[in-house]
Amino acid sequence: MLQELNVQDILDRVEKNIQQYFGMGEVANYIPELAKIDPKQFAMTVATVDGRIYSCGSSDKLFSIQSISKVFVLTMAMNVLQDELWERVGKEPSGSAFNSLVQLETEQGIPRNPFINAGALVTTDAIIQRFTNAYDEILNFVRDLSQNESIEFDKNVALSEFQHSERNSALAYFMKSFGNIESDPIQLLDVYFHHCSIAMNTVDLAKAFLFLANGGVNPATGKRVVTSLKAKRVNSLMLTCGLYDNVGDFAYRVGLPAKSGVGGGIVAVLPGEFSVAVWSPELNLSGNSLIGTKALELFTNYTEKSIF
Ligand code: GLN
Repeated sequence: MLQELNVQDILDRVEKNIQQYFGMGEVANYIPELAKIDPKQFAMTVATVDGRIYSCGSSDKLFSIQSISKVFVLTMAMNVLQDELWERVGKEPSGSAFNSLVQLETEQGIPRNPFINAGALVTTDAIIQRFTNAYDEILNFVRDLSQNESIEFDKNVALSEFQHSERNSALAYFMKSFGNIESDPIQLLDVYFHHCSIAMNTVDLAKAFLFLANGGVNPATGKRVVTSLKAKRVNSLMLTCGLYDNVGDFAYRVGLPAKSGVGGGIVAVLPGEFSVAVWSPELNLSGNSLIGTKALELFTNYTEKSIF
């Protein structure tokens, strides 16, 4: 178990080691509000299922969770639609960029998986159809998982993305043409950009993912979020689809199910033990945090903790 190791020492070692990699990636620049961020930042937090928290770096600094929100929305959509969801979205890695359109035409508007943009637009659509106020439902779901009422949308990031939404608009309208989107695409995009804009720090994120390390129950509240079967399925999807077209390399190096976002965050889970959130804004070519990936690789190497 992780408690036998000196986790704080290991995190400090990781933080020291990653310094040499600054300057090798680029912050997301297709969302102007994210392009303004100081690239030379790093934070990492480990949360254990028995309630311990270890951090290094700027773990109180809020950042845009971006596609990490796709895990929250998928979890909610799985509870709302049950197995019907899988008639509208697939479970296979895409091998393509997160915002790619190419597979949608041959696959009749059914996205490859819920963690690429097209797939998350479908899960977001399910939430809008089910709840009268999708914004509040999603935000409250995340606040409850993190046990932090102060978590908010970053309206500037959401607006900035809306102003540059050509690609995501194309995905939404194209899927609607196949009958796979029920909502008005403009409303859908607004809800989608809002959940991508949620601002959290690595402590909030590590806590929010603990239910996936704990068979579907949030250990902080004892509340069941999803069945253990669904928790297994979300973790499996993260392992095979959580890092876009970089998922094989990430699994090879890190060995944990994880989800990334273009804000520079990545959250990974070791079922039965812990969740670990990392943040550093410079991205690799697939849009995953370059230093975040390195930090997770070092962490699983140093601790010898992975699912394998
Ligand atoms: N909001 C971003 C987008 O739709 C999310 C992408 C990501 O984090 N990979 O482009």
